[in-house]
This record gives sequence, C-alpha cells and structure tokens, in this order.
Amino acid sequence: MALSLEAPPETVDVVVIGAGPGGATTAARLAQSGHSVLLLERRTHPRFHIGESLLPPCNAIFEKLGVLERIKEQGYVVKYGAEFSGGKRGDKHGRIPFSEQGEGRHPTTFQTERAHFDRILSEFAQECGAHFIQEAVVQELLHENGRVVGVRYDHGGGSHTVRSRFVIDAGGRASKVAQTFGLRRYPESLRMVALYRHFTDMDERYNPGVEGDIQIGGHKDGWVWAIPIWSDTISVGAVMPRDVLRNSGRDREAVFNDHVSRIGRIEQRITGTRPHTPLHVEADYCYYSDTMAGPGWFMVGDAACFFDPIFSGGVFLAMTTAIRAADTTHAILAEPEREEQLQLDYTNFYKTGYDIYARLIHAYYEYDYNLRPFLQSVGMDLAGDGLATNKWLVRLVSGDFWSDKNALNLELRKESRWDTFAPFEPVWGCPFYEHLNQAEEPMVLS
Ligand SMILES: Cc1cc2nc3c(=O)[nH]c(=O)nc-3n(C[C@H](O)[C@H](O)[C@H](O)COP(=O)(O)OP(=O)(O)OC[C@H]3O[C@@H](n4cnc5c(N)ncnc54)[C@H](O)[C@@H]3O)c2cc1C
Repeated sequence: MALSLEAPPETVDVVVIGAGPGGATTAARLAQSGHSVLLLERRTHPRFHIGESLLPPCNAIFEKLGVLERIKEQGYVVKYGAEFSGGKRGDKHGRIPFSEQGEGRHPTTFQTERAHFDRILSEFAQECGAHFIQEAVVQELLHENGRVVGVRYDHGGGSHTVRSRFVIDAGGRASKVAQTFGLRRYPESLRMVALYRHFTDMDERYNPGVEGDIQIGGHKDGWVWAIPIWSDTISVGAVMPRDVLRNSGRDREAVFNDHVSRIGRIEQRITGTRPHTPLHVEADYCYYSDTMAGPGWFMVGDAACFFDPIFSGGVFLAMTTAIRAADTTHAILAEPEREEQLQLDYTNFYKTGYDIYARLIHAYYEYDYNLRPFLQSVGMDLAGDGLATNKWLVRLVSGDFWSDKNALNLELRKESRWDTFAPFEPVWGCPFYEHLNQAEEPMVLS
C-alpha cells in the first residue's frame, strides 16, 4: 500500500492508534459518519500478526461497514464450524456447526492470514476517508487540563503532534493508554504460552473432519489449534501453561512437535505438510483493564483486554468494541455534555462481552481443557449429538457474548470464581441480531 503523500493533519476530530482490525474498523466507521480521522500504524502492511480464525458475527460487522463483498473476494478459507477433539487415536471428537445457530444468523465466516486481512481492512478505512499513515509510532499522549487532546508520533525521521477531540487507542498489547495510565492487570490463572507456525502443502483431503473448520484438540498439558488460512496453508499452535514449557526440560521445537502429535485428528490433517515459518512464541497475552474510557480517550479490542485464543474471539471482540467506540464517539461529538454517561455505557458494554468470553475460557480450562463437565454441571443434555444441536451452545461458541436470552451466559455469570472485572452493570443486547433476539423467548436449559 502506498504511504500517504499528503501533509499529515495537525488537527482532526479523532486520532486512532494502530491499524489492526480494531483500529481499521474504528477509523472506517468514524470516517463514514463524516468525521476527520487520522489512523496511525507503527508498522507497514502487510505485516505478520497472529489471530487468524474469525467468528460468524464478524460477517455481520463486515456487512454493517459495507466491506463484506470485498472480504468474500479475497479467497479466504470459509469456516463452517469448530471441531473439538482429544486423544492420539482421534476417536473422541465433536463439532459445533455454525449453521445450527438458528435462522437469520451468518452460518459461516472466514479463516484469514492476518497480514492480508489487516491490509484489506486498513485500505478500506482509507477509502472511507480516514487519513492513514504507516510507520508512524505514537510516542505519547498529549494532555491538557486532565484531558487527552492528541498525540505525539514519530514518522519519516521527524516528530509530529496532532490535536484531536478524541484519541482511540487500538494499539493492541502495546497500548499507549494502558501504559500511560498504568491500567493493565494480569490474571494469575491464565499465564499461558503459545508456540505456533504455518505449514504449507496442506491437502484438505487428509482432514478427517469438515473442510475449512478450525480444529481444537485438548490434552493433559494444554491444547492445540489447526486453522487452514489458505487452500494450501495451515496454522498450527500449541498452547500450554507457562510452567509446562519451563519445566519440560526440552526446547520449544520438541515441545511443539510433541503436543501436536498428541492430537490424532490434527496430525492426520497436516499429513505431507512442511513448516513454512519459524516457530513463533507468544506469552503474557492474557490481561485486562477495569477502565476502558476516560476524558478524551477510549480503548478498543486488545488495547484493554485479551484473555485467550481458545474460542477465536479476539478479532470479533476487537471489531465489535471498535464499532461501539466509534458510535459512542460520534454521539459525544454531537452532545459533549453526555460524555461521562456515554463512556460508562461503553465501558459496561465492553466488559459484558469480554466477561462472557473470559468465563467461557475458564469453563474450558478449569475442567482440564474440556467444556463438557461445565455443560453437564449446568444440566445440559449432551447425549447423542447434543453438542452440535444445542442452539445456545452453538450460539455461544459462535460469539453470542451479549445476549441475556442465552441461558448459558447467565449460568456462566453465576460463577463468582470466574469474575475478572470489578462489579459492573452488564449491557445486554446482541449488537448484530437485535431484532432476532428481541423476538425470542429466553432459552431454557435442557
Ligand atoms: C496465540 C494467539 C492466537 C490467537 N488466535 C486468534 C484467533 O484464532 N482468532 C481471533 O479472533 N483472535 C486470535 N487472537 C487474538 C488476536 O490476535 C487479537 O485479539 C486481535 O488481533 C486484536 O485486534 P486489535 O486491533 O485490538 O489489536 P492488534 O491486532 O494487535 O493491532 C494493534 C495494532 O496497533 C499497532 N500499534 C501498537 N502500538 C502502536 C503505536 N504506539 N503507534 C502506532 N501503532 C501502534 C500495532 O503495530 C498493530 O498493528 C490470538 C491471540 C494470540 C496471542
């Protein structure tokens, strides 16, 4: 993508830090609402990023933004569901088909190579009217009378300042706002490490399951993912508690190969593939903040929280909170006197979705990388194909994090040992399928 040749603006309505999915979505949405937006990205697209498997309501967001057709044209692998398995022989497995969410909901989504996907989204933000500068590293927030009023960033060998009415931090794990205000917390129970790489020469004919699905395999020391990101390329990752890696006495390659080999159905799918990237390592990616907005600023997506990749919620949560932050900013710019109240609503909305996602992760981790014991403990009948046909389980795993009609969400919220945030007032109401949810009776556990 060409770097912008226009002189950088010195004043805009909104500065957005970071052009991942959260930042690009925020910038596109605000530009579509008629605001002047400066989107600053410290790297150059395309650049590597992890976070490849999307959830079905991402398609509803693409639709809302007007980018769905473009996403469909990219040749991304279509994702129909999620397979969960365990064991070397691969005889224990179940599947969540997104088509079972019920009428009117997107029954598929995409697996993406993030370098490619993030470039498409940021180009789109630029087309919507956002001023996009790459290799622009935000160094500090500008403050005035207790309010954030812009940023200072380095670009092209110089230091620049831009003033704005709002700064929206979508800088992910490197969030400037979280750093500046010391907001980040690390939950002790989720100290995980991920080892992963891409493999090429994949042939989906070896996949014992459904083409395009994500596979998740649980074993005694962690879990493994397999995500086909192109027709011939698959991303494979092994996630484990930090101490498992530390105490293994083996190098990372050996641990990675061992964990992958424990999941028969993933081993089978990657038959004949070759490593295509070095082995990457991510650690300390589980964190949260109790504050998501303040005078003149918001955080969206990973800037404020990320818990775990197990249910592929990261990009979806980042884009959902991006839309909400953009719409809240739009409302505040029209009625500045409502800033405090609207920011509180945003914060509670943000926490509602991330809180359900975090609880789902705890439910999987607490029972040794298996969701079934939790589902059984709340009275869900999993006999036969119960996993596949239970509408509210399918919906939850598909991203139904904001619905109080989903009985599982309410069960998850009862478990106080899985509280992350300080007490807050949930903001229920599915942001994508509002009309469908309103028309529906609360779901009953059986
Ligand atoms: C091991 C692992 C596996 C994962 N798998 C999945 C998955 O399968 N599906 C899924 O949905 N999610 C997954 N995730 C989560 C996913 O990676 C994130 O949730 C998602 O990328 C968040 O998007 P974002 O836009 O908030 O932040 P990011 O995508 O991290 O984007 C932040 C951007 O800000 C830029 N930036 C940072 N600081 C500055 C600065 N000072 N100035 C300018 N720019 C800056 C960065 O360069 C970056 O481009 C996974 C995460 C991990 C750790």
